Amino acid sequence: MSPVKITADTEACVASGQCVLLAPGTFDQDEETGTVVLLADQPAAGEDDAVRQAELTCPAAAIRVTG
Ligand code: SF4
Repeated sequence: MSPVKITADTEACVASGQCVLLAPGTFDQDEETGTVVLLADQPAAGEDDAVRQAELTCPAAAIRVTG
């Protein structure tokens, strides 16, 4: 099984913050712009499902999870 890899498109992000609420160990928001900051390109411990949920619920479809 290949490792999960996350990407976040900061250009597309509309700073809604859902991803941070769902997976705060994996996503953060820029303090000034509110856009997504990817803390790691793999889910933090225990956040695998939350990261996939974030991909599905991001209103800008800015999150991609592969693998
Ligand atoms: S859920 Fe999507 S639009 Fe909202 S902050 Fe995260 S990446 Fe940006």
